[in-house]
Amino acid sequence: MNDFRSGFVGIFGKPNAGKSTLLNALLNEKLAIVSPKAQTTRNKILGILTEKNYQIVFNDTPGLLQSVYKLHERMMKEVDLAKQGTDLILFIIDARDDAASNIELLQSLKSKQNTLIVINKIDKGKVGAIEKLKTAFSSLKQVVGIIEISALQKTHLDTLLDAIVAQLPVMPPYYDEDTLTDRPMRFFVAEMIREKLFFALDEELPYHAAVYVRQYEEKNTLTKIVADIVVSRETQKSIIIGKGGSMLTRIGQEARLDIEKFIERKVFLELHVKVRKDWRNNDLFLKEYGY
Ligand code: GDP
Ligand code: MG
Repeated sequence: MNDFRSGFVGIFGKPNAGKSTLLNALLNEKLAIVSPKAQTTRNKILGILTEKNYQIVFNDTPGLLQSVYKLHERMMKEVDLAKQGTDLILFIIDARDDAASNIELLQSLKSKQNTLIVINKIDKGKVGAIEKLKTAFSSLKQVVGIIEISALQKTHLDTLLDAIVAQLPVMPPYYDEDTLTDRPMRFFVAEMIREKLFFALDEELPYHAAVYVRQYEEKNTLTKIVADIVVSRETQKSIIIGKGGSMLTRIGQEARLDIEKFIERKVFLELHVKVRKDWRNNDLFLKEYGY
């Protein structure tokens, strides 16, 4: 235990840069939800990776957004929280993205914290463009390294882990080694259901929906879960329910399979769709639904 290293690592970057994919790849568990649409990650998620000689506590943060709704203000607060007590910042960039807008974003964090630049999606990026990104970022003072990876194809993740651990202080672990996350199961269940809304529905609708797990009960042979999908309009409700309930059935089936895989138990999942007018601007609802 002499040179055991531990620390908190904040994951930042534009929406869709691949933050959740990276976290999942590093933890080998489906903790953060991943979808092709931006902004699926609303809450700060802690993932904990414990190995023989280190423990890394990851924060998966929402992308930095304009504060259009109160919901977004909350999300921005989460970003600030993640900054506090962070030993290292991982700043994730899509290999196809431009340097200037990302440098601006990194500087808007107003952090002097050591930062590892992670150029992701190198399976899609062009060598010349990647070199340009590297040159642009290498001149920044807080940048301690630049690593090229593909989170999706899991390339160079060992190099990345080595670079992270090298930046962490010598410190005993913060959490028991079998702790994967400090979030209650309900949270992950809600996220897995919400993820299915993204895949099942088109366009903007999922951004108008929240999922609240009302009941989570371990029975003898299965786990009973009752959850509300909360939307702001009747029209949204009927889209989610679908013809004769077909869409809701499909969402429920797909979510149930994911949850069963995650908790390794049979699941009975009951979903309800509720209309709460304007929930995104209502403090009370935001609190109740865990934002
Ligand atoms: P986040 O918003 O930063 O958390 O981004 P996500 O992890 O949700 O990823 C956004 C999209 O980029 C998803 O469709 C991912 O499958 C995709 N993606 C993530 N990493 C890679 C990568 O290394 N290569 C490619 N080609 N796609 C990736
Ligand atoms: Mg994400």
